[in-house]
Amino acid sequence: MFNGIAVSVNNLPNLLNLSRPGMAQFLKSLDEPPARAKTLIQSIHQRRVVDFADLGCSRRLKDKLTTCASITLPLLLQEQRSDDGVCKWLLKLEDGNAIETVYIPDQDRGTLCLSSQVGCGLNCRFCATAQAGFNRNLTTAEIIGQLWWALSRVAPITNVVLMGMGEPLLNYDAVVPALELMLDDCAYRLSKYRVTVSTAGLVPAMQRLGQECPVSLAVSLHAPNNALRSQLVPLNKKYPLEILIPVCKHYFPPRAKQKVLFEYVMLAGVNDQPQHVRELIDLLSGVRCKVNLIPFNPFPGAIYQCSDAATIAAFQSDLMAAGIPCWVRRTRGRDIDGACGQLAGQFTDRTRRKKMLVLK
Ligand code: SAH
Repeated sequence: MFNGIAVSVNNLPNLLNLSRPGMAQFLKSLDEPPARAKTLIQSIHQRRVVDFADLGCSRRLKDKLTTCASITLPLLLQEQRSDDGVCKWLLKLEDGNAIETVYIPDQDRGTLCLSSQVGCGLNCRFCATAQAGFNRNLTTAEIIGQLWWALSRVAPITNVVLMGMGEPLLNYDAVVPALELMLDDCAYRLSKYRVTVSTAGLVPAMQRLGQECPVSLAVSLHAPNNALRSQLVPLNKKYPLEILIPVCKHYFPPRAKQKVLFEYVMLAGVNDQPQHVRELIDLLSGVRCKVNLIPFNPFPGAIYQCSDAATIAAFQSDLMAAGIPCWVRRTRGRDIDGACGQLAGQFTDRTRRKKMLVLK
């Protein structure tokens, strides 16, 4: 670390780690006017400058930055395109680990799904990333670097979701500056309605996000009662439904139009039965929300199967009949392992979870 900014291998602070306030502070520490932050952010994120010589600032500042900062991006290792237009990239990080990013084009929009950690430590039973274990948090540069790269390869990117590898709210300090850059008019100019953080339910960080950077919120619910949810999403033991649901209810201010999105993966015979719909309707009564049913995407070693189409349709229509907006997420990019819960990247597991799975 250098003045609290993550450095790259050459040991210089990486300017890609800085949103506007951080850049202003960094300039101040160099005895430069903080107002220059605006043009530097524009150069790096809108003009995609990686060479100090091309930055929009004076020769003197360029020379100064050359000696005391870096602009370091992840490396694009591989690009895969699916028949349905989905694109998946493998990005190599400075420590040799690699993460995945997915682009999902639709008629009038393009959604980019970003990773926030190398692997994931939450161990949700139905997720391929969980099986691969956890290595570390991503830096802001590595999170925003995914958007930087994607914009150079595809268009349009109208929506960003943090639904790739990792639990974004366990990496709060790096995620928030990345969100600030996404929303900044001098950087990626996305609307807060079109940037979504998805969480397994990290309650204190959800409350903080609502106060500090209220982007759209998706919560991975997956079960309507504590017994089942604790099995599927172990984090539920720490923040059970009676704590989680009220926090979802109050995430947006009382008169805001936005609704919290609940994600619900459809697992055959596990959470897709009529009693589960009834419990879910009760649980969500009085919460301004919408529900997204996600057909389970299989992966090698998975112990679940996807509910059949008729069961999913019945589940959806029961929720709708109860006045809860609900739709089924169309599965995209399965042929390139780019669908929800299929991202694995390439990294060293520091939790030894893989080894434990083999021993079981
Ligand atoms: N940790 C965050 C974001 C990453 S997962 C979270 O839990 O929300 C993004 C979404 O994909 C989550 O809703 C997750 O539960 C879902 N998911 C994980 N594995 C899946 C699978 N095999 N099939 C379908 N959806 C899956």
